Amino acid sequence: MSHRYDVVVVGAGTTGAAAAYHLTQAGVSNILCLDMGTPGLGRTEARKVANGTPLTQPDEETFVPHYSGTRVFEGGQNGPRTIKMIVTLPPYEMLDGIADLFGWDGVKTYLELAQHGLKLELDLARKFLPNPDQQVKQNGSLMVCEADRSERLRQEFNFLQSLGCPCEWWDEERVIAAHGASAGYVAGIWFPQDARIDSVSFAKSLLDAALKTGSLTLRDQCSPVVDIQNDDSRSHAVIKLEDGEYLEAKQVIVATGGMFFDKQLAGILIPRYSYLAALPHIDPGPLGGMDAPDSANFFTLGFTHDWCVENNFVRISGEDHYSGLKSPRAKQRCGRLAQWGWTKYPYLEFGADYPATYGIYSETPDFMPLIGKTDPESCVCYMVGCNAWGQASLSAAAALAAPLLGYRDMSEAEQRTADLFSIRRFSAR
Ligand SMILES: Cc1cc2nc3c(=O)[nH]c(=O)nc-3n(C[C@H](O)[C@H](O)[C@H](O)COP(=O)(O)OP(=O)(O)OC[C@H]3O[C@@H](n4cnc5c(N)ncnc54)[C@H](O)[C@@H]3O)c2cc1C
Repeated sequence: MSHRYDVVVVGAGTTGAAAAYHLTQAGVSNILCLDMGTPGLGRTEARKVANGTPLTQPDEETFVPHYSGTRVFEGGQNGPRTIKMIVTLPPYEMLDGIADLFGWDGVKTYLELAQHGLKLELDLARKFLPNPDQQVKQNGSLMVCEADRSERLRQEFNFLQSLGCPCEWWDEERVIAAHGASAGYVAGIWFPQDARIDSVSFAKSLLDAALKTGSLTLRDQCSPVVDIQNDDSRSHAVIKLEDGEYLEAKQVIVATGGMFFDKQLAGILIPRYSYLAALPHIDPGPLGGMDAPDSANFFTLGFTHDWCVENNFVRISGEDHYSGLKSPRAKQRCGRLAQWGWTKYPYLEFGADYPATYGIYSETPDFMPLIGKTDPESCVCYMVGCNAWGQASLSAAAALAAPLLGYRDMSEAEQRTADLFSIRRFSAR
């Protein structure tokens, strides 16, 4: 073993790229970022099957790809590009669910840091994306519900107001004007600051900015990392790649999204698929009235579906919670998303060809990310657990890369974020 890196970042999605970028800004040098695929996209080519024979065509029965969670459609004729929503709310059905676990102070901390993460990501996206007018859309988001849930939604709005979260109540008339009566939504909460970005380009642009400092080396398409161990002396970690190569680093950041086989994460990080379908949308219909083609984000109370209009497509995401350890069943699940779209918005052309894709994200039992080290002496720092809505919270977490690794002190606000998300809530203290 020859070279010892100061920091190795494993994973070059939005989280790993942001962590690498923040480290270079804090003056850290000698950083290596590893990704077994392409930054932002993950590993999209066919993988070898058990007997070592490469597959030439992805096959749903035998092929488990690692499409990253940062992945988006290709844009143009192949769907919208700015599909990743950056939202204020965590993926709980209601805030009182988080309060049961973290107290109302914890809820308030979450909302503050999600807004902070959202701002951080938008500032970086506007600074580094080559075409921010097209690739960053801060058009707000609207959480909607059907009649039987409107009391619950009103209660959620009251929680949000009492916690000082910027949002607005939308009544039935306004929601129906935006969505049409067929969608069945009768009330909404409007979050004016929410946004969406082209997350693949975002990850690539952040890495480019970090590479320009000369402090970072990127190895993409590398052999997958299969093990990371602290050395007995705890002075460094040893990283093992699938092809047998070993690397050494004083510290490691694990930002591998949904699929990392690490005993520290077993049982608390669950890989899941999430699916996307983009239904062609030429006729303006009621959704077209909502500032199309650059509409807001929409999502349901309970986060079952989210959607937006862009580039003459209604992009729908959902069908989450199908285990990422099984084959993806993409046709079936994307088909169900399309059926949902045609039912809610019957003016969309039924049965037309539509782009569809999917990716892997990771879920934790309490829907908060897992950040930091399992013990203070460890050389391994985790930044995983995006819980389908990870952009805001993981952006806030990635900005803690330098203090988490001891390169500078933490501010009080940063300490609150680190404490709320700490991986140690699931380990023996
Ligand atoms: C279809 C879909 C839609 C989503 N929509 C949203 C949304 O609208 N808003 C939102 O906030 N979140 C959304 N998410 C969640 C999304 O996953 C996160 O927000 C975020 O982009 C995850 O970024 P990440 O960098 O943590 O992980 P990823 O983007 O998954 O990146 C992990 C990287 O690590 C690499 N890697 C993994 N294992 C290894 C290994 N062993 N060795 C080497 N490299 C490895 C992978 O190749 C990959 O590039 C969605 C997820 C999916 C799947």
